[in-house]
Amino acid sequence: MIEKDGLKQRMSVFFNKAKNILNKVKIKEHINKVTEAKLLTRLVSFLKNISWKSPKTIGISALSVIILGAGIFYLSTTVSAVGITVNGKNIGYAQNKTEAEQIVQEVLQKHGEVSGQVAHTNDKIEYEKARIKKDEYAANKISFALLLNAIIPYINACGIQIEGQTVVHLADTKQADLVLTKYKEYFTKPGDKNVVDSAEFEEEVTKVAVKVHPSDIISVDEALDFLLKGDAAETEYTIQKDDSFWLIARKHNMLVDEVLAANPGFTEDTIIQPGQTIKLAKIEPFLTVISKGTKVVKEVIPFDVQTVTSTKVAAGKSVVQQAGKDGEKEVTYKYVEKNGKTLEKTVVKEEVLAKPVKQIIAKGPAVKPVYVGTSRGSGAVYGLQWPLSGRITSYYGYRSRGFHTGIDIDGVTGQPYYAATAGKVVLAGYVGNYGYCIIVDHGNGVATRYAHSSKLLVSVGDQVKKGQNIGLVGSTGKSTGSHLHFEVIVNGSTVNPLNYLP
Ligand SMILES: [Zn+2]
Repeated sequence: MIEKDGLKQRMSVFFNKAKNILNKVKIKEHINKVTEAKLLTRLVSFLKNISWKSPKTIGISALSVIILGAGIFYLSTTVSAVGITVNGKNIGYAQNKTEAEQIVQEVLQKHGEVSGQVAHTNDKIEYEKARIKKDEYAANKISFALLLNAIIPYINACGIQIEGQTVVHLADTKQADLVLTKYKEYFTKPGDKNVVDSAEFEEEVTKVAVKVHPSDIISVDEALDFLLKGDAAETEYTIQKDDSFWLIARKHNMLVDEVLAANPGFTEDTIIQPGQTIKLAKIEPFLTVISKGTKVVKEVIPFDVQTVTSTKVAAGKSVVQQAGKDGEKEVTYKYVEKNGKTLEKTVVKEEVLAKPVKQIIAKGPAVKPVYVGTSRGSGAVYGLQWPLSGRITSYYGYRSRGFHTGIDIDGVTGQPYYAATAGKVVLAGYVGNYGYCIIVDHGNGVATRYAHSSKLLVSVGDQVKKGQNIGLVGSTGKSTGSHLHFEVIVNGSTVNPLNYLP
Protein backbone atom coordinates (compact mmCIF):
# COMPACT_ATOMS: atom_id res chain seq x y z
CA MET A 1 0.00 0.00 0.00
CA ILE A 2 2.86 2.35 0.91
CA GLU A 3 4.51 1.62 -2.43
CA LYS A 4 1.17 2.01 -4.14
CA ASP A 5 0.51 5.32 -2.39
CA GLY A 6 4.00 6.56 -3.29
CA LEU A 7 3.40 5.70 -6.94
CA LYS A 8 -0.04 7.26 -6.83
CA GLN A 9 1.53 10.48 -5.45
CA ARG A 10 4.20 10.54 -8.14
CA MET A 11 1.59 9.85 -10.77
CA SER A 12 -0.45 12.74 -9.45
CA VAL A 13 2.57 15.11 -9.76
CA PHE A 14 3.23 13.78 -13.26
CA PHE A 15 -0.43 14.20 -14.14
CA ASN A 16 -0.33 17.87 -13.06
CA LYS A 17 2.87 18.48 -15.02
CA ALA A 18 1.31 16.81 -18.05
CA LYS A 19 -1.79 18.92 -17.68
CA ASN A 20 0.32 22.08 -17.42
CA ILE A 21 2.19 21.19 -20.57
CA LEU A 22 -1.07 20.42 -22.32
CA ASN A 23 -2.46 23.78 -21.27
CA LYS A 24 0.59 25.57 -22.60
CA VAL A 25 0.45 23.56 -25.76
CA LYS A 26 -3.24 24.30 -26.13
CA ILE A 27 -2.75 27.99 -25.70
CA LYS A 28 0.35 28.29 -27.83
CA GLU A 29 -0.22 25.81 -30.53
CA HIS A 30 -3.93 25.14 -30.54
CA ILE A 31 -3.64 21.44 -30.11
CA ASN A 32 -6.91 20.03 -31.05
CA LYS A 33 -9.24 19.45 -28.20
CA VAL A 34 -9.97 15.85 -29.09
CA THR A 35 -6.32 14.84 -28.75
CA GLU A 36 -6.11 16.59 -25.40
CA ALA A 37 -9.29 14.96 -24.08
CA LYS A 38 -8.13 11.53 -25.17
CA LEU A 39 -4.85 11.95 -23.32
CA LEU A 40 -6.54 13.15 -20.16
CA THR A 41 -9.08 10.32 -20.15
CA ARG A 42 -6.32 7.77 -20.46
CA LEU A 43 -4.34 9.37 -17.62
CA VAL A 44 -7.37 9.58 -15.33
CA SER A 45 -8.39 5.99 -15.95
CA PHE A 46 -4.82 4.87 -15.33
CA LEU A 47 -4.74 6.66 -11.95
CA LYS A 48 -8.15 5.33 -10.97
CA ASN A 49 -7.13 1.80 -11.65
CA ILE A 50 -3.67 1.95 -10.16
CA SER A 51 -4.70 1.05 -6.56
CA TRP A 52 -5.96 -2.48 -7.36
CA LYS A 53 -3.61 -3.31 -10.23
CA SER A 54 -0.95 -6.03 -9.89
CA PRO A 55 2.72 -5.08 -10.07
CA LYS A 56 2.74 -6.48 -13.63
CA THR A 57 -0.14 -4.23 -14.57
CA ILE A 58 1.69 -1.38 -12.89
CA GLY A 59 4.72 -2.16 -15.05
CA ILE A 60 2.65 -2.16 -18.21
CA SER A 61 0.92 0.99 -17.10
CA ALA A 62 4.26 2.66 -16.36
CA LEU A 63 5.24 1.86 -19.96
CA SER A 64 2.09 3.50 -21.23
CA VAL A 65 2.90 6.53 -19.08
CA ILE A 66 6.27 6.75 -20.81
CA ILE A 67 4.59 6.47 -24.21
CA LEU A 68 2.08 9.09 -23.17
CA GLY A 69 4.91 11.31 -21.97
CA ALA A 70 6.67 10.93 -25.31
CA GLY A 71 3.37 11.76 -27.01
CA ILE A 72 2.97 14.88 -24.92
CA PHE A 73 6.57 15.84 -25.68
CA TYR A 74 5.92 15.35 -29.41
CA LEU A 75 2.78 17.45 -29.27
CA SER A 76 4.56 20.17 -27.32
CA THR A 77 7.38 20.49 -29.88
CA THR A 78 5.33 20.25 -33.10
CA VAL A 79 2.33 22.03 -34.53
CA SER A 80 -0.41 21.20 -36.93
CA ALA A 81 -0.33 23.50 -39.92
CA VAL A 82 -1.53 23.92 -43.49
CA GLY A 83 1.06 24.16 -46.22
CA ILE A 84 0.28 26.44 -49.16
CA THR A 85 1.63 25.38 -52.53
CA VAL A 86 1.53 27.43 -55.71
CA ASN A 87 1.97 25.34 -58.85
CA GLY A 88 3.38 22.55 -56.68
CA LYS A 89 5.92 24.74 -54.91
CA ASN A 90 5.56 25.19 -51.15
CA ILE A 91 5.40 28.88 -50.29
CA GLY A 92 4.90 28.51 -46.51
CA TYR A 93 2.61 27.39 -43.73
CA ALA A 94 -0.50 28.84 -42.17
CA GLN A 95 -2.16 27.80 -38.89
CA ASN A 96 -5.10 26.30 -40.67
CA LYS A 97 -6.94 26.28 -43.99
CA THR A 98 -9.10 29.29 -43.05
CA GLU A 99 -6.02 31.39 -42.42
CA ALA A 100 -4.37 30.07 -45.59
CA GLU A 101 -7.40 30.87 -47.75
CA GLN A 102 -7.72 34.28 -46.18
CA ILE A 103 -4.15 35.27 -46.96
CA VAL A 104 -4.56 34.07 -50.57
CA GLN A 105 -7.71 36.19 -50.80
CA GLU A 106 -5.89 39.21 -49.38
CA VAL A 107 -3.10 38.78 -51.93
CA LEU A 108 -5.61 38.65 -54.82
CA GLN A 109 -7.35 41.70 -53.40
CA LYS A 110 -4.04 43.56 -53.22
CA HIS A 111 -3.19 42.55 -56.79
CA GLY A 112 -6.56 43.79 -58.03
CA GLU A 113 -6.56 47.01 -55.98
CA VAL A 114 -5.60 49.21 -58.93
CA SER A 115 -8.70 48.07 -60.82
CA GLY A 116 -11.09 48.12 -57.88
CA GLN A 117 -11.62 44.38 -58.33
CA VAL A 118 -10.33 41.19 -56.73
CA ALA A 119 -7.76 39.70 -59.07
CA HIS A 120 -7.90 36.13 -60.31
CA THR A 121 -5.09 33.71 -60.97
CA ASN A 122 -4.50 30.74 -63.20
CA ASP A 123 -1.92 29.38 -60.77
CA LYS A 124 -2.75 26.10 -59.05
CA ILE A 125 -3.08 26.85 -55.34
CA GLU A 126 -3.31 23.88 -52.97
CA TYR A 127 -3.59 23.49 -49.19
CA GLU A 128 -2.08 20.48 -47.43
CA LYS A 129 -2.47 19.56 -43.77
CA ALA A 130 0.85 18.83 -42.04
CA ARG A 131 2.35 18.43 -38.61
CA ILE A 132 5.72 20.12 -38.47
CA LYS A 133 8.31 21.11 -35.89
CA LYS A 134 7.59 24.39 -34.15
CA ASP A 135 10.86 25.99 -35.28
CA GLU A 136 10.27 24.84 -38.84
CA TYR A 137 6.81 26.37 -38.69
CA ALA A 138 8.19 29.64 -37.34
CA ALA A 139 10.82 29.78 -40.09
CA ASN A 140 8.33 29.01 -42.86
CA LYS A 141 5.26 30.91 -41.69
CA ILE A 142 3.48 32.15 -44.79
CA SER A 143 4.23 35.81 -45.53
CA PHE A 144 2.03 38.18 -47.48
CA ALA A 145 4.99 39.51 -49.48
CA LEU A 146 6.16 36.03 -50.39
CA LEU A 147 2.73 34.96 -51.59
CA LEU A 148 2.24 38.28 -53.43
CA ASN A 149 5.33 37.45 -55.48
CA ALA A 150 4.45 33.82 -55.99
CA ILE A 151 0.99 34.34 -57.46
CA ILE A 152 0.63 35.70 -60.99
CA PRO A 153 -2.68 37.56 -61.09
CA TYR A 154 -4.95 38.67 -63.89
CA ILE A 155 -8.12 40.70 -64.04
CA ASN A 156 -10.98 40.81 -66.50
CA ALA A 157 -10.53 44.22 -68.10
CA CYS A 158 -11.64 46.20 -71.14
CA GLY A 159 -9.28 47.14 -73.94
CA ILE A 160 -9.82 50.03 -76.33
CA GLN A 161 -8.82 49.15 -79.86
CA ILE A 162 -8.14 51.63 -82.64
CA GLU A 163 -8.16 50.06 -86.09
CA GLY A 164 -7.79 46.65 -84.46
CA GLN A 165 -4.81 47.68 -82.33
CA THR A 166 -5.27 47.65 -78.55
CA VAL A 167 -3.93 50.92 -77.18
CA VAL A 168 -5.13 51.09 -73.56
CA HIS A 169 -6.61 48.80 -70.90
CA LEU A 170 -9.29 50.05 -68.53
CA ALA A 171 -10.66 48.28 -65.46
CA ASP A 172 -14.05 47.77 -67.08
CA THR A 173 -16.33 48.68 -70.01
CA LYS A 174 -17.88 51.55 -68.08
CA GLN A 175 -14.51 53.21 -67.65
CA ALA A 176 -13.62 52.61 -71.31
CA ASP A 177 -16.89 54.29 -72.33
CA LEU A 178 -16.11 57.21 -70.04
CA VAL A 179 -12.71 57.67 -71.68
CA LEU A 180 -14.28 57.77 -75.15
CA THR A 181 -17.02 60.19 -74.05
CA LYS A 182 -14.52 62.50 -72.35
CA TYR A 183 -12.28 62.33 -75.43
CA LYS A 184 -15.13 63.53 -77.66
CA GLU A 185 -16.09 66.26 -75.20
CA TYR A 186 -12.49 67.47 -75.08
CA PHE A 187 -12.83 68.54 -78.71
CA THR A 188 -16.54 69.24 -79.06
CA LYS A 189 -16.98 71.25 -75.82
CA PRO A 190 -20.75 70.94 -75.72
CA GLY A 191 -22.72 73.64 -73.92
CA ASP A 192 -25.60 76.12 -74.13
CA LYS A 193 -23.97 77.95 -77.02
CA ASN A 194 -22.81 74.80 -78.73
CA VAL A 195 -25.30 72.06 -79.46
CA VAL A 196 -23.42 69.02 -80.70
CA ASP A 197 -25.62 66.95 -83.01
CA SER A 198 -23.11 64.20 -83.59
CA ALA A 199 -19.56 63.30 -82.66
CA GLU A 200 -18.01 60.27 -84.32
CA PHE A 201 -14.55 58.85 -84.47
CA GLU A 202 -12.96 58.79 -87.90
CA GLU A 203 -11.05 55.66 -86.91
CA GLU A 204 -12.64 52.32 -86.12
CA VAL A 205 -12.89 52.13 -82.34
CA THR A 206 -13.85 48.91 -80.57
CA LYS A 207 -13.92 47.65 -77.01
CA VAL A 208 -12.68 44.16 -76.26
CA ALA A 209 -12.75 41.96 -73.16
CA VAL A 210 -9.21 41.13 -72.10
CA LYS A 211 -7.50 39.26 -69.29
CA VAL A 212 -4.51 41.34 -68.26
CA HIS A 213 -2.05 41.75 -65.43
CA PRO A 214 -3.45 44.40 -63.07
CA SER A 215 -0.40 46.62 -63.66
CA ASP A 216 -1.50 46.97 -67.30
CA ILE A 217 -4.61 48.84 -66.17
CA ILE A 218 -4.62 52.62 -66.32
CA SER A 219 -7.07 55.16 -64.95
CA VAL A 220 -9.63 57.09 -67.00
CA ASP A 221 -7.55 60.28 -66.79
CA GLU A 222 -4.34 58.51 -67.72
CA ALA A 223 -6.02 56.86 -70.71
CA LEU A 224 -7.48 60.19 -71.83
CA ASP A 225 -4.12 61.91 -71.54
CA PHE A 226 -2.43 59.10 -73.44
CA LEU A 227 -4.95 59.13 -76.30
CA LEU A 228 -4.83 62.92 -76.60
CA LYS A 229 -1.04 63.11 -76.60
CA GLY A 230 -0.79 60.38 -79.21
CA ASP A 231 2.55 59.74 -80.81
CA ALA A 232 4.32 62.86 -79.63
CA ALA A 233 7.42 62.94 -81.76
CA GLU A 234 10.04 65.13 -80.11
CA THR A 235 12.44 67.18 -82.20
CA GLU A 236 14.90 69.94 -81.49
CA TYR A 237 14.77 73.42 -82.91
CA THR A 238 17.47 76.08 -83.01
CA ILE A 239 16.24 79.61 -82.27
CA GLN A 240 16.64 81.96 -85.24
CA LYS A 241 17.12 85.71 -85.18
CA ASP A 242 13.87 87.54 -84.32
CA ASP A 243 12.15 84.31 -83.24
CA SER A 244 9.40 84.42 -80.68
CA PHE A 245 7.38 81.55 -79.19
CA TRP A 246 4.48 82.71 -81.29
CA LEU A 247 6.55 82.63 -84.46
CA ILE A 248 8.07 79.25 -83.62
CA ALA A 249 4.59 77.89 -83.02
CA ARG A 250 3.37 79.26 -86.35
CA LYS A 251 6.38 77.84 -88.21
CA HIS A 252 5.58 74.38 -86.91
CA ASN A 253 1.81 74.59 -87.05
CA MET A 254 1.63 74.35 -83.28
CA LEU A 255 0.11 76.32 -80.46
CA VAL A 256 2.31 78.49 -78.22
CA ASP A 257 1.12 76.38 -75.26
CA GLU A 258 2.35 73.24 -77.01
CA VAL A 259 5.79 74.76 -77.56
CA LEU A 260 5.97 75.81 -73.90
CA ALA A 261 4.70 72.43 -72.66
CA ALA A 262 7.57 70.63 -74.39
CA ASN A 263 10.05 72.81 -72.50
CA PRO A 264 9.41 72.53 -68.76
CA GLY A 265 10.01 75.77 -66.90
CA PHE A 266 9.36 77.93 -69.95
CA THR A 267 6.72 80.66 -69.92
CA GLU A 268 5.74 83.14 -72.59
CA ASP A 269 8.11 85.62 -70.91
CA THR A 270 11.14 83.33 -71.07
CA ILE A 271 13.83 85.08 -73.10
CA ILE A 272 15.18 82.98 -75.95
CA GLN A 273 18.44 83.67 -77.75
CA PRO A 274 19.37 82.89 -81.34
CA GLY A 275 21.41 79.69 -81.48
CA GLN A 276 19.72 78.24 -78.39
CA THR A 277 17.97 74.90 -78.89
CA ILE A 278 14.54 74.09 -77.58
CA LYS A 279 12.37 71.01 -77.77
CA LEU A 280 9.37 70.67 -80.00
CA ALA A 281 6.86 67.90 -79.43
CA LYS A 282 4.17 67.83 -82.01
CA ILE A 283 0.96 66.48 -80.58
CA GLU A 284 -0.95 64.12 -82.83
CA PRO A 285 -3.86 62.54 -80.97
CA PHE A 286 -4.64 58.87 -81.55
CA LEU A 287 -8.28 59.53 -82.38
CA THR A 288 -10.00 61.99 -84.68
CA VAL A 289 -13.42 63.27 -83.70
CA ILE A 290 -15.66 64.53 -86.48
CA SER A 291 -18.40 66.59 -84.89
CA LYS A 292 -21.42 68.38 -86.29
CA GLY A 293 -23.57 70.92 -84.52
CA THR A 294 -24.74 74.46 -84.10
CA LYS A 295 -22.79 77.21 -82.37
CA VAL A 296 -23.79 80.67 -81.26
CA VAL A 297 -20.86 83.07 -81.03
CA LYS A 298 -20.37 86.79 -80.56
CA GLU A 299 -18.33 88.44 -83.26
CA VAL A 300 -16.84 91.88 -83.64
CA ILE A 301 -18.14 94.17 -86.38
CA PRO A 302 -15.11 96.34 -87.17
CA PHE A 303 -15.81 100.04 -87.50
CA ASP A 304 -15.46 101.78 -90.85
CA VAL A 305 -12.90 104.51 -91.30
CA GLN A 306 -13.73 107.60 -93.24
CA THR A 307 -11.05 110.08 -94.15
CA VAL A 308 -11.84 113.74 -94.72
CA THR A 309 -9.42 116.44 -95.77
CA SER A 310 -9.27 119.42 -93.50
CA THR A 311 -7.27 122.58 -93.86
CA LYS A 312 -7.36 122.98 -90.08
CA VAL A 313 -5.00 120.05 -89.78
CA ALA A 314 -1.31 120.56 -90.45
CA ALA A 315 -0.02 119.25 -93.74
CA GLY A 316 0.88 115.57 -93.64
CA LYS A 317 -0.79 115.06 -90.20
CA SER A 318 -4.07 113.48 -89.25
CA VAL A 319 -6.39 113.66 -86.23
CA VAL A 320 -9.36 111.64 -85.13
CA GLN A 321 -12.51 113.71 -85.60
CA GLN A 322 -14.83 110.97 -84.42
CA ALA A 323 -13.65 107.98 -82.47
CA GLY A 324 -14.57 104.67 -84.01
CA LYS A 325 -16.14 101.90 -82.00
CA ASP A 326 -16.44 98.27 -82.97
CA GLY A 327 -19.91 96.79 -83.08
CA GLU A 328 -20.97 93.32 -82.03
CA LYS A 329 -23.14 90.65 -83.55
CA GLU A 330 -24.42 87.26 -82.50
CA VAL A 331 -23.83 84.69 -85.19
CA THR A 332 -25.47 81.29 -85.28
CA TYR A 333 -23.78 78.81 -87.56
CA LYS A 334 -23.77 75.15 -88.37
CA TYR A 335 -20.37 73.55 -88.35
CA VAL A 336 -18.39 70.45 -89.11
CA GLU A 337 -15.27 70.14 -87.01
CA LYS A 338 -12.31 67.79 -86.94
CA ASN A 339 -10.75 67.55 -83.48
CA GLY A 340 -12.10 71.02 -82.70
CA LYS A 341 -10.84 72.63 -85.92
CA THR A 342 -13.46 73.99 -88.32
CA LEU A 343 -13.90 72.09 -91.59
CA GLU A 344 -17.18 73.69 -92.66
CA LYS A 345 -19.10 76.67 -91.37
CA THR A 346 -22.48 77.91 -92.58
CA VAL A 347 -24.03 81.01 -91.05
CA VAL A 348 -27.72 80.43 -90.41
CA LYS A 349 -28.55 83.57 -88.43
CA GLU A 350 -26.94 86.90 -87.67
CA GLU A 351 -28.18 89.41 -85.16
CA VAL A 352 -26.53 92.79 -84.63
CA LEU A 353 -26.20 93.48 -80.92
CA ALA A 354 -24.40 96.81 -81.25
CA LYS A 355 -23.82 98.78 -84.42
CA PRO A 356 -20.26 99.96 -85.04
CA VAL A 357 -19.51 103.68 -84.89
CA LYS A 358 -17.65 105.07 -87.89
CA GLN A 359 -14.20 106.51 -87.27
CA ILE A 360 -13.63 109.85 -88.96
CA ILE A 361 -10.09 110.94 -89.59
CA ALA A 362 -9.32 114.48 -90.59
CA LYS A 363 -6.19 114.77 -92.67
CA GLY A 364 -4.24 117.87 -93.41
CA PRO A 365 -3.27 118.62 -96.98
CA ALA A 366 -0.89 116.04 -98.40
CA VAL A 367 2.64 117.32 -98.63
CA LYS A 368 3.87 114.89 -101.18
CA PRO A 369 3.09 111.32 -102.05
CA VAL A 370 4.71 109.20 -99.35
CA TYR A 371 4.97 106.25 -101.64
CA VAL A 372 7.62 106.01 -104.24
CA GLY A 373 6.62 106.20 -107.81
CA THR A 374 2.92 105.43 -107.63
CA SER A 375 0.56 106.99 -110.10
CA ARG A 376 -1.89 109.79 -109.35
CA GLY A 377 -5.46 109.64 -110.49
CA SER A 378 -9.15 109.24 -109.79
CA GLY A 379 -8.63 106.50 -107.24
CA ALA A 380 -11.00 104.24 -109.10
CA VAL A 381 -10.10 100.58 -109.01
CA TYR A 382 -12.35 97.58 -109.47
CA GLY A 383 -12.28 93.93 -108.62
CA LEU A 384 -9.51 93.74 -106.03
CA GLN A 385 -9.15 90.25 -104.68
CA TRP A 386 -7.95 89.12 -101.25
CA PRO A 387 -4.17 88.71 -101.38
CA LEU A 388 -4.36 85.95 -98.75
CA SER A 389 -7.26 84.16 -97.15
CA GLY A 390 -7.12 84.14 -93.39
CA ARG A 391 -8.46 85.69 -90.24
CA ILE A 392 -8.07 89.43 -89.93
CA THR A 393 -6.05 89.97 -86.78
CA SER A 394 -5.97 93.78 -86.95
CA TYR A 395 -8.22 96.20 -88.81
CA TYR A 396 -7.52 99.56 -90.40
CA GLY A 397 -7.75 102.74 -88.33
CA TYR A 398 -6.81 103.77 -84.80
CA ARG A 399 -6.28 100.58 -82.91
CA SER A 400 -4.75 99.94 -79.51
CA ARG A 401 -1.25 100.29 -80.94
CA GLY A 402 -1.93 103.54 -82.77
CA PHE A 403 -2.95 104.20 -86.33
CA HIS A 404 -2.93 101.04 -88.37
CA THR A 405 -2.46 101.82 -92.04
CA GLY A 406 -3.69 98.49 -93.39
CA ILE A 407 -5.20 95.19 -92.38
CA ASP A 408 -3.28 92.24 -90.96
CA ILE A 409 -4.19 88.86 -92.41
CA ASP A 410 -3.10 85.84 -90.41
CA GLY A 411 -0.82 83.46 -92.26
CA VAL A 412 2.02 81.01 -91.91
CA THR A 413 5.61 81.79 -92.85
CA GLY A 414 6.23 80.60 -96.39
CA GLN A 415 2.57 80.75 -97.39
CA PRO A 416 2.13 82.38 -100.82
CA TYR A 417 0.23 85.65 -101.19
CA TYR A 418 -1.13 87.16 -104.38
CA ALA A 419 -1.41 90.48 -106.19
CA ALA A 420 -4.82 92.02 -105.44
CA THR A 421 -5.07 93.02 -109.09
CA ALA A 422 -2.85 93.60 -112.10
CA GLY A 423 -0.22 96.30 -111.98
CA LYS A 424 3.43 97.25 -112.05
CA VAL A 425 5.84 96.59 -109.21
CA VAL A 426 7.25 99.93 -108.08
CA LEU A 427 8.93 98.74 -104.90
CA ALA A 428 10.33 95.37 -103.87
CA GLY A 429 12.80 95.35 -101.01
CA TYR A 430 13.44 95.82 -97.31
CA VAL A 431 11.87 98.95 -95.83
CA GLY A 432 12.32 99.39 -92.06
CA ASN A 433 9.23 98.46 -90.08
CA TYR A 434 7.60 96.91 -93.15
CA GLY A 435 10.38 94.37 -93.53
CA TYR A 436 10.47 92.85 -97.00
CA CYS A 437 7.65 94.54 -98.86
CA ILE A 438 6.18 95.11 -102.29
CA ILE A 439 4.20 98.00 -103.72
CA VAL A 440 2.19 97.36 -106.87
CA ASP A 441 0.85 100.36 -108.79
CA HIS A 442 -2.50 99.63 -110.39
CA GLY A 443 -2.96 103.00 -112.11
CA ASN A 444 -5.55 105.71 -111.44
CA GLY A 445 -3.59 106.64 -108.30
CA VAL A 446 -4.23 103.26 -106.65
CA ALA A 447 -1.47 101.08 -105.24
CA THR A 448 -1.32 98.13 -102.87
CA ARG A 449 1.37 97.26 -100.34
CA TYR A 450 2.30 93.81 -99.05
CA ALA A 451 4.55 93.80 -95.96
CA HIS A 452 6.53 91.56 -93.55
CA SER A 453 7.30 88.99 -96.28
CA SER A 454 9.76 86.17 -95.79
CA LYS A 455 10.53 86.22 -99.52
CA LEU A 456 9.79 88.47 -102.48
CA LEU A 457 9.12 86.79 -105.81
CA VAL A 458 9.03 89.91 -108.01
CA SER A 459 11.35 92.83 -108.77
CA VAL A 460 10.84 96.52 -109.45
CA GLY A 461 9.48 97.02 -112.97
CA ASP A 462 7.77 93.66 -113.21
CA GLN A 463 4.23 93.59 -114.59
CA VAL A 464 2.06 91.35 -112.41
CA LYS A 465 -1.29 89.75 -113.12
CA LYS A 466 -4.21 89.70 -110.76
CA GLY A 467 -3.81 86.71 -108.45
CA GLN A 468 -0.14 86.21 -109.28
CA ASN A 469 1.96 84.83 -106.44
CA ILE A 470 4.27 87.76 -105.72
CA GLY A 471 5.73 86.86 -102.32
CA LEU A 472 5.68 84.62 -99.28
CA VAL A 473 4.22 85.43 -95.86
CA GLY A 474 6.76 86.13 -93.12
CA SER A 475 7.45 88.17 -90.04
CA THR A 476 10.21 90.54 -91.14
CA GLY A 477 10.35 94.15 -89.94
CA LYS A 478 8.26 95.25 -86.98
CA SER A 479 6.07 92.20 -86.58
CA THR A 480 5.01 89.94 -83.75
CA GLY A 481 4.30 86.92 -85.91
CA SER A 482 3.75 85.69 -89.45
CA HIS A 483 1.07 87.66 -91.20
CA LEU A 484 0.50 89.77 -94.25
CA HIS A 485 0.08 93.48 -93.69
CA PHE A 486 -1.96 94.69 -96.65
CA GLU A 487 -2.56 98.33 -97.57
CA VAL A 488 -4.54 100.09 -100.23
CA ILE A 489 -3.03 103.45 -101.10
CA VAL A 490 -4.98 106.08 -103.01
CA ASN A 491 -3.05 109.09 -104.20
CA GLY A 492 -0.40 108.55 -101.59
CA SER A 493 -2.72 108.05 -98.61
CA THR A 494 -3.79 104.76 -97.11
CA VAL A 495 -7.49 103.92 -97.09
CA ASN A 496 -9.49 101.15 -95.47
CA PRO A 497 -8.79 98.07 -97.63
CA LEU A 498 -12.11 96.52 -96.56
CA ASN A 499 -13.87 99.15 -98.64
CA TYR A 500 -12.11 97.77 -101.72
CA LEU A 501 -12.20 94.05 -101.05
CA PRO A 502 -15.15 91.79 -101.85
ZN1 LIG B 1 -0.17 95.62 -89.99
